[in-house]
Amino acid sequence: MNTLKPLPGKASILIVGAGIQGLSLAFNLAERGVRDILVLDAGYWQGGASGRNGTLIRGAFSSPEWTRFFAHSCHLWQGLSKRLGENVMYSRRGYTMVGERSSTAALLDRTLEVHKTSGITSSLLTPTQLREVLPALAHERVSAALHLPDSGVAPHHAAMYAYRQACEARGVAIHYGTEVTAIDQSAGRISGVQVGARRIAADTVVLAGGAESNRLAQLAGVALDGYPMRLEAMALEPTRALIGPAVALLDRLCYMHQTARGEVVGGAEVAERPQHTLNADVPVMAATARAYLEMFPQLGHARILRQWAGLVHISRDFGPLLGAHGQLPGLFISAGWCYGHAGAPAAGEFLARAIINGDVDERMRPFAVDRFERNQPVVEPGIVLSHFE
Ligand SMILES: Cc1cc2nc3c(=O)[nH]c(=O)nc-3n(C[C@H](O)[C@H](O)[C@H](O)COP(=O)(O)OP(=O)(O)OC[C@H]3O[C@@H](n4cnc5c(N)ncnc54)[C@H](O)[C@@H]3O)c2cc1C
Repeated sequence: MNTLKPLPGKASILIVGAGIQGLSLAFNLAERGVRDILVLDAGYWQGGASGRNGTLIRGAFSSPEWTRFFAHSCHLWQGLSKRLGENVMYSRRGYTMVGERSSTAALLDRTLEVHKTSGITSSLLTPTQLREVLPALAHERVSAALHLPDSGVAPHHAAMYAYRQACEARGVAIHYGTEVTAIDQSAGRISGVQVGARRIAADTVVLAGGAESNRLAQLAGVALDGYPMRLEAMALEPTRALIGPAVALLDRLCYMHQTARGEVVGGAEVAERPQHTLNADVPVMAATARAYLEMFPQLGHARILRQWAGLVHISRDFGPLLGAHGQLPGLFISAGWCYGHAGAPAAGEFLARAIINGDVDERMRPFAVDRFERNQPVVEPGIVLSHFE
């Protein structure tokens, strides 16, 4: 890492935030020949949400917009180790979206149609197929299950290491422990950032600051939708292999998978007040344990090994905020990421192309930063998240 190297006085493209979004973008820019890329991070390597997530990669959702975006990302995940030259440990184990309510079964029917028209491989499992894919699931509670064979998981530590190595091998400078404290403008456009008393000139600045996105937008003097949100996960002690694919229990806002070590990792979301804290939270652990117990009763004996939280940035439709910020030339945004691990390869590619030659990919366009001002939110009913009440 470049942490001990002196900060340069200028950069061609300066990225604020070295989470998976910042690193994927830096890699995609460098891969396309951009030089003098500088990535600054206030914290430590993997200290943000990118080192704290559930590692699930879902390649399709219920809306056409999310499905097209994340299908491309899932496709990129499958070839990422080769491209980065390091093993991201992508495990194509499949992903099953489970519905219990009849309304969720109807949603999964509609989802299948979206997948068909988007060219995505998925299928509604028959009861017999569901028993084969998820034998330990409480089948009597399930009204429908939709399976995505190409999706899976990739450990965040492997992905972050691979992106960092690939960036540095291409000359990207990454500085941790380096907080951007001001964002400069000159003649109506971005001109650089400040790190304490140090000024770094840059014509292009990208805000990829995760939960700090609104504060960073304020520093730039522009409006940005969304707010910080706490997400939690927990790991159970290793147990025999019970759960093959990644799983989303849609009616319980719960996701999980079983790692190669046998730990069941996942979490359930409960509507709570915004909390800018990483402290342990018993009600969310209890909700997760209940979801596990009711849906996978054989986990009843397993003890909770550890619990953790992370902070993400959530937009009002839960979708990413990706692209140029129309209020300030030279300013770009990669924020609003609640599925930002899964989405990183596509986001990095799309945003790099938009920055280099203004090419806005059709799969990125729906997630434009100004979509709420145009009253064009993207409705995605198949996610396991809810807004605070
Ligand atoms: C418990 C949990 C489970 C999750 N599960 C999944 C999952 O299974 N699948 C999935 O796809 N996603 C999941 N996510 C979401 C995913 O982790 C995030 O969407 C993703 O990591 C966001 O990446 P990022 O780079 O935008 O943000 P981060 O990784 O948070 O990086 C932002 C960085 O910006 C830096 N920064 C902020 N302010 C400044 C400043 N002023 N100056 C310099 N640097 C600054 C921070 O230090 C931080 O390192 C989960 C998240 C959590 C917390």
